[in-house]
Amino acid sequence: MQRTDRRRGRGAEFTIRAMSQDSNDKSVDEAGFGRVRMVLVGTQHPGNIGSSARALKTMGLSRLVLVAPERFPHAEAEALAAGAGDVLASARVLHDPAVAVADCRLVLGCTARDRRIALPMLSPREAAIQAAATVRAGGEVALLFGRERTGLDNAELQLCHAAVHIPANPDYSSLNLAAAVQVLAYELRLALLDAPSTSEDEGEGPGEPSATHAQIEGLFAQLGETLDAIDFHKGRAPESAMRKLRRLFLRADLNEREVRLLRGVLADAQRMASIASRR
Ligand code: SAH
Repeated sequence: MQRTDRRRGRGAEFTIRAMSQDSNDKSVDEAGFGRVRMVLVGTQHPGNIGSSARALKTMGLSRLVLVAPERFPHAEAEALAAGAGDVLASARVLHDPAVAVADCRLVLGCTARDRRIALPMLSPREAAIQAAATVRAGGEVALLFGRERTGLDNAELQLCHAAVHIPANPDYSSLNLAAAVQVLAYELRLALLDAPSTSEDEGEGPGEPSATHAQIEGLFAQLGETLDAIDFHKGRAPESAMRKLRRLFLRADLNEREVRLLRGVLADAQRMASIASRR
């Protein structure tokens, strides 16, 4: 992953520079911090809400959404937010997670479990790079965090385009909720400050936007149809192959032109399959 390494190198550089910047600094705002929200679903301990607010503010993020918190507002939340009382005070409280993410182009669900999830699985770094690409294309991004006891339920995961797993100790992989928020907030900060440079994106015109989630979904749908048309699965269930291909394409961070190119290739494959089936 040469590209990621280069990005990380520049990320470190930017982080040092950004340390002296205030989170409300114009240059930081321009990086799109305001288009990312952290959504805590069904949080049980108010202290975790306060610590999460603090985790966001230390990384220059400020948008906290609480879906059906068990106890909020609460003195413990205030106490653990420390100097991030402003983030806590401006938190939106909602009842329905679908409402919390309705306007988002990218929704990522953070899960302590790395198996039995029927979604593409991203590392925090991959998730942050995708989030930054969406923000740069003008989209809103949500990261969902589950309950301390049981995490996100299936209906909540179904709102998500992908799952994010912090590759922790496999024997003890469940971080404290606010600690998980901190890890994701940190990766988001690096990715958001890591503005793309034209020299890196060889062959792409400056400003070539990343594909939107809807465009990527269109590509996946056409890919699914094409694989059927060319009898790729040969009687096997298509889910496993589709899941792997999804991961591959999500990792590639395709831009709009690349999606159009791939869809052109698929259209020709579909046309040839249809001619072959008529023979
Ligand atoms: N017992 C729960 C753990 C919940 S921890 C379970 O088995 O799912 C509370 C929340 O913190 C999780 O829902 C998730 O959003 C986040 N979290 C904790 N550990 C994580 C990890 N390793 N990777 C990603 N998110 C994690």
